[in-house]
Formats: sequence, C-alpha cells, structure tokens
Amino acid sequence: MKIKRLVFVVFSLCILFPLPANEPVGFDHFFENATLRVDLIHIGDKTSELYAVDRMYKTPVWAGSPAHVIDTFNNGRYFIRVFDSVSGKLIFSRGFNSIFGEYATTKPAANGIKRAFPETALIPFPRNPVRLTISARNRDNSLKEIFRQEIDPKSVDILQLKKNEDVEIIPIAGNTNPHHSMDLAIVADGYTGAERNKAVSDAKYFAAKLLNMAPYNRYRNHINIALAFRPSPDSGCTEPTRGIYKRTAVNASFNSLGLPRYLLTEDNRDLRDIAGAVPYDIAVVMVNSPRYGGGGIYNFFCVFTADNPYRNYVFLHEFGHAFAGLADEYYSSAVTYDDFYPNGVEPLEPNITALIDSNHLKWKELASPGVSIPTSWGKAEYDSQNLDYQKKRRLLDGKIAKLTRDGASADQIRELKARAAKLSAQNGTWVNQFFANNPERDKVGAFEGAGYIPEGLYRPQLDCIMFSKGEKPFCKVCAAAIAARLRFYIE
Ligand SMILES: [Zn+2]
Repeated sequence: MKIKRLVFVVFSLCILFPLPANEPVGFDHFFENATLRVDLIHIGDKTSELYAVDRMYKTPVWAGSPAHVIDTFNNGRYFIRVFDSVSGKLIFSRGFNSIFGEYATTKPAANGIKRAFPETALIPFPRNPVRLTISARNRDNSLKEIFRQEIDPKSVDILQLKKNEDVEIIPIAGNTNPHHSMDLAIVADGYTGAERNKAVSDAKYFAAKLLNMAPYNRYRNHINIALAFRPSPDSGCTEPTRGIYKRTAVNASFNSLGLPRYLLTEDNRDLRDIAGAVPYDIAVVMVNSPRYGGGGIYNFFCVFTADNPYRNYVFLHEFGHAFAGLADEYYSSAVTYDDFYPNGVEPLEPNITALIDSNHLKWKELASPGVSIPTSWGKAEYDSQNLDYQKKRRLLDGKIAKLTRDGASADQIRELKARAAKLSAQNGTWVNQFFANNPERDKVGAFEGAGYIPEGLYRPQLDCIMFSKGEKPFCKVCAAAIAARLRFYIE
C-alpha cells in the first residue's frame, strides 16, 4: 500500500514539474545494452587528415557506465560525438588519443609523408539512427569536426560477430557488473600455446600490482580484470632495429614511430577482436619479452613487456597514459615528437601545465600551503647529471642494435646489455638520492620541466611515476585524476 502511494506521489510530481528539456535522458531510451564497434582508418600527415569507416560490428554488452555517456574530461586530441539523428541531441561523447595523433607531430609527417593507422570507436549500441562525428584539436585545443557519418543501427553493414572460438577468456580479478566497474582486458601477445600458463601467471602478477597501487587499491572491488588469450605462432615480439621479426597475436613491435623503445601494435582489428571477447573499457597488451619498452595512448590501449626488471614501472606508467590520459612528466628522454605541446597553449592533460596564469594553478586545490609558484627544485644539478646519462645510454643502445644486426657473438651483446643495465641502475640511484635530499620533495607546486620540454611546462611534484623510472607512487595530482576516471566507470 505504502509503495503504491509513493509511486502515485512521484508520478504526480512529474506531471506538476516536468523534466526540463536539457535534462539527461536515460541510457535505455537511446541505447541497447550492447556495443557498436566502429573500425576506422585515419590517414594523413602534419597538415591534413581524414577518417573513413572500415567496418562496423555489434557485440554484446556495453561495458561503460550508463550514467556517464557524456565525457566531461576535455582531454585527448580527438573527440567522438554521437547525436540522435531525429532530435539532434548529443547522446554520447569520448575524448581519445591515437597513434596518428602522435605521428602527425613527427618529422616525416611534417615533410608531407602520409601514413594510415587503424582506430576503433566503441559506442553504446543506438536504438535509432545516429550521427557519428569525430573532431580534432586545433593548435589552440579548440575542436574542429573532421568526420561525420549517419549510422542506421538496422543496417546490414553492421556485422554481428560470432563468439571468438580461438580466444580463451580467463578471469583474473573481480566479478562485478560491467556497468559499474572498470573492466580491463589484458591481451597476451607473443605467448605460444605452450606458454599459456606463463601468460596466466604474468596477468595475475600485473593485476595484483595494479590492485595494490594507490589510488586503484581504493576501488579494487570495482575493477574487473580478464586475460584474453589467443596463442601466438611465435614467442616474443618484433624488434626491427635488431633484425628480429615474429608472428604474434597482435604483432606488437618495438621501434614504433622510429623510436627504439616505443612498443605499440598497429594490428588494431586483431586487438579489438581478441579484447572484445569480454566486455572491456580499456585494453592492454602484455608482451612476452624481457626488453625494456612500452607505450600508452589515452582511451586507446597500452603495451608493456612482461619480463623486464622495470616491468612494474612500465606497466603502471603506460596504463596511466591509457586509462587516465596522464601526460609524460619527464622532459629529458629522447622522444620522436616535434611541437607536441605548442608554445603558450595550456595542455589538455591534468598533470602538466604551461602556467599561463600563475595565480590560477591548474591543480590549485591540491597545492601545498605557501608553496612558491613556480617552485625551485635544483633543476640545473639534475639536468647536468641527466644529460650525461642520456648521452651514454644512447651510445650503448646504438652499439647493441648494430652488433645484434651484424650477428655479433651472444657474449659480446650480453656484456653490452649488462653495461646498459648498470648505467641505468646507477642513474636511478643518483636520481632517488637527489629526490630524497630535496627540501621540496613532498610539496605540490609547479616544478619546471615536463611534457618533453625543459622550460615552459610544469609538473605538480618533484617526482612521480609519470616523471622518473622506478617503483614509486603517483603524485597527488595524477592520483586524483586516476580516481576521477575510476569513478567515471564505476558510478
Ligand atoms: Zn604525476
């Protein structure tokens, strides 16, 4: 009786106070609990780019939160928007980065060499026709539309995939409703059928690292992790500068965009087929290799190697890019990008700033009381040590690559690799000591040197796992950004 009366009261209130026109309409009104996967090709160079649809698929279950269909983060160099065709209402949006977006900032792209990269948009499956648009950022980070297409959900062009019989899904952690959890698909690459058990134990290892790391640990009951396993014909991965080529599940390769340590995959269709065997918000590629390397792209994917001594750092750092859209806070390593952050433009990422107005620090609510902005931190001393290290490191890397290509003896190569490892460890010790003795070590302020640029970009704290190599926490600003992303998927 009581319930009936309550329903009546609520119903009456709705009549008396109709919802305003701009009130968000429920997920179920516009979408089914399924995913529209739109595979795209992104082609261009520094000054021109275009998208074309490759294929579209319908897959069961929408992994995201039905409460958060609109992206409120304003991050990512590209932005997907979906509009209801009849009313014109915006019903879904997502910011993301892509390999193309990085390629566009390289020298070959500036020289007009066009390249094509595959991408995927994951959208809750619409009930009625929609307009899909993709916008790219102008130099000042405003958005310009570069792609628009009407999609009829009843079209026969939308393929309905059968269950992937060659992909085994192995639950690793969590078992909660995908609508209210962050769902992570670990795709194994370079593990043969005989190495399946190694893939499972590696996935469990990295899952535990993530679930124990702050701030992920606070949300661990809402994180689902599954291993998506398709056996690779070969063990390991492709290393072009060393003349090593392998056939693997998603063909991850070092030397992406011409940078030796940059490990990515361009086999997007295979990656999405394998990851899509389980509902997922974000896919990570776990590569069966002992070499140091990886890569992470916001709302796209990340790649890391499973057996390197720095594997914990690489995984958590790259996942920080892919999941939370964090920027690299370091500025002294060799990178392949020119003009990645245009001068005088505030970066989109939450953890670096151009400090255009020092009275309005981007993360002012987290700043230490009384901290000076910018914050001096002994940068000159740090820079001279680091420049020296980077120079020696590049020389050694070059020698190792040349000897491997020329077929030098295993002993010779091992000796050089040991020297590189020792050099890296020595530098790590020096850096840790420098930070431990620094009077500003616990403060949140604005520390100059970030986003590949030594001057004019600032990071929130002296050190962070997005700044230097090693097992260390996220700075407070990165941790807050990750927590906000987690709530976006969970709530
Ligand atoms: Zn940070």
